[in-house]
Amino acid sequence: MKNYDLIIIGAGAAGLSAAIYAGRSLLSTLVIEKFSFGGRVNDTPRVINYPGFKEISGRDLINEFRRQAENFNTNEFTYGTVSKIEKIGEGFKLITSRRREFFAKAIIIATGTYAKMINVPGEIEFAGRGVSYCSTCDADYFKDKDIHILGSGDLALEEADYLSNFANSINMIIIHEEGNFDGNELEVKKIKENPKISYTWHSKLEGIYGDDRVNSLDILDLSDNTNTRVTSDGVFIFAGMSPNSEFVKDYLDLDDFGFIVTDDCMRTSVEGIYAAGDIRQKPLRQIVTAASDGAVATVYAERYIRNRGVR
Ligand SMILES: Cc1cc2nc3c(=O)[nH]c(=O)nc-3n(C[C@H](O)[C@H](O)[C@H](O)COP(=O)(O)OP(=O)(O)OC[C@H]3O[C@@H](n4cnc5c(N)ncnc54)[C@H](O)[C@@H]3O)c2cc1C
Repeated sequence: MKNYDLIIIGAGAAGLSAAIYAGRSLLSTLVIEKFSFGGRVNDTPRVINYPGFKEISGRDLINEFRRQAENFNTNEFTYGTVSKIEKIGEGFKLITSRRREFFAKAIIIATGTYAKMINVPGEIEFAGRGVSYCSTCDADYFKDKDIHILGSGDLALEEADYLSNFANSINMIIIHEEGNFDGNELEVKKIKENPKISYTWHSKLEGIYGDDRVNSLDILDLSDNTNTRVTSDGVFIFAGMSPNSEFVKDYLDLDDFGFIVTDDCMRTSVEGIYAAGDIRQKPLRQIVTAASDGAVATVYAERYIRNRGVR
């Protein structure tokens, strides 16, 4: 079994940026990805805040990351879901869900997040049949439909704007009192000017109903605690993100929400293991901060490998 200098778990913006820096440092590196090279950036229709690109689709941007990472012949890429990390001698053993084993002197965890569920009746039953968490993946199914969006953060606002190119009408269910959004001013302004978008303020989604597909929702008005059933062709839920950290929950220090705790050098509570991107406890989860984390993590992983003389 080949022993790598570095294994990077997850090939999103953080993992691919870490791989670019690893290539530059001539570290023999394996990147393991469980689902889709590029991670969540693939789900982003339009990126307007990554320096160097005035406007670019998430896919085009992350393909550039990938091409650059693949350019280094010390980098290898494979599919697999890492389910366990063990300390072995001077390094680590990684085990995947299909029982494949890999060895490395240092590890960078860049496993990102997944969309949080809100656990209301019908959410699981109608997932993929009118309940969605990703507009890029599912927008086509909602062409000329009347839909709802739950949430008012940056993600919900961006997605509302994108979905308005497909849907007939969009109603946003927002927990705050009238006029209060969670997202940034630019997105709020854009949304307010969009004639297809309306709002249900100070309200919560309580249930999702239908037959083959979603046809109605229960919405609770928090001002007077009354429930109203409204017709709807579907609902996009943007209720925040949960970290993909289950596989290290008994091994590394996590915060109360399951994000990996690191210092400024991306070091985790276990020497030789680093974390980068959305998976770690941090104030801003964006492509640019994920890329930055990846770079820092590799620089410190390289120092660790060299200083311990294990290279
Ligand atoms: C719809 C949407 C729109 C967004 N819009 C913007 C925007 O306009 N601008 C911006 O800057 N940011 C935006 N963001 C945020 C940005 O996409 C993220 O901050 C960034 O992609 C995080 O990168 P990451 O590499 O940390 O994680 P991710 O992109 O989540 O990548 C993690 C990777 O790890 C893999 N993985 C997980 N667990 C395992 C495992 N056990 N084994 C192997 N692989 C594993 C996953 O499959 C995934 O590919 C948006 C996010 C979303 C969802």
